[in-house]
Amino acid sequence: MSECHHHQHRKAQDVIPQELAANTEFICPMHPEVKKFGPGDCPKCGMALEPLLGEGGDDSEYKDMLRRFIWAAIFAVPLFIIAMGDMLT
Ligand SMILES: [Zn+2]
Repeated sequence: MSECHHHQHRKAQDVIPQELAANTEFICPMHPEVKKFGPGDCPKCGMALEPLLGEGGDDSEYKDMLRRFIWAAIFAVPLFIIAMGDMLT
């Protein structure tokens, strides 16, 4: 009993529609300075380039969440220091 036909190695080229891929920057995982529009291979190491986009393509919600998290952290730190100061004195 073999299930060899089940493993698919999905490449970025297969997942992303051509016209979207052409407008997406691709970078090499090993060389972030290697950037080009559209899928291709890194000229330095020959690895398949990866698209610069989040899961689902729209990451505005994630960025919004991250921004709120950063602000929460900025406000939490002074409170934490004040709380620590109270404990120490
Ligand atoms: Zn590379």
